[in-house]
Amino acid sequence: MDFSICVKVSIALCAAFLLLFSFSCLDTAAQTGRVDAEQVMRHIEKIISYGPHPPGSEAQKEVGSYIAGQLQSHGLEVHTHTFHPVTPLGRREMTNIWGVVKGKEDSIIILASHYDSKYFEDFSFLGANDSGSSSGLLLELARMLKQDNPTDYSLWFVFFDGEEAFFDWTSADSIYGSREFVRMLKGRNQLRKISALILLDMVGEQDLVLRKEINSTHWLKQIIWDQGGEMGYGDIFQSRGTTGAQDDHLPFAREGIPVVDIIDLDYAYWHKKEDTLDKLSPDNLRIVGDVVLASLPEIAKRLKESP
Ligand SMILES: [Zn+2]
Repeated sequence: MDFSICVKVSIALCAAFLLLFSFSCLDTAAQTGRVDAEQVMRHIEKIISYGPHPPGSEAQKEVGSYIAGQLQSHGLEVHTHTFHPVTPLGRREMTNIWGVVKGKEDSIIILASHYDSKYFEDFSFLGANDSGSSSGLLLELARMLKQDNPTDYSLWFVFFDGEEAFFDWTSADSIYGSREFVRMLKGRNQLRKISALILLDMVGEQDLVLRKEINSTHWLKQIIWDQGGEMGYGDIFQSRGTTGAQDDHLPFAREGIPVVDIIDLDYAYWHKKEDTLDKLSPDNLRIVGDVVLASLPEIAKRLKESP
């Protein structure tokens, strides 16, 4: 090979490499830049604009109408279930809301958040992060996954009422909505259709660090945390350390359903009046959403292998 041919071959190889490289960049962009963080922030702003919205309050009904309206506007089939549990403040009306994206299969993957804010007697608690963040993100995920479901599974976007305890957390005074939801599914003989639950809670703070939650299913958190690491978000999806949460995933876990709780409990404004919009990071909300979206095909694959 003479020198000029060698140069030409080298140039051709470089061009091919650059082309491949740019394709892989495009591919990564398609995988990552999908969640509209500004839209998520607008949802959260709207949710907290109704003020404190503990279960049974007028404000909570308005938040519920907003959520149902958004799901409907994106073409999801919307369901609600109203129930009246006994709480330390007497019977309260609560409503679980869920939007359905029908898949090729009847089996269901649930993505969930709670949409109540914790009741406080002595101050006004908005809960921008707890749990406006996960509610806003869930609405955006519902919009996107209605357009493009990367799995054969049906997807349910469930907004639980009554996650928070009215007073101190006990097994009776907490997670009213998810306990009722599992009871309802059992009564309708639908619980066996639930293949997995992905729960989001407090996912919007600026110093977001997500550690694997100890009551969550090993393989499910492994897929999500590996995905986070592969996408370059290992600082948020921390592979070191664990966290433990009593949350809406527990009633499903007790039934043997694979569950994961994506939560950062280490939040300086947790259950404080300062849990407001300015404490949130649109970027971190986008990252959590993108990682969950990118994890879905692998989760569905694993479920098919060993349901
Ligand atoms: Zn809370």
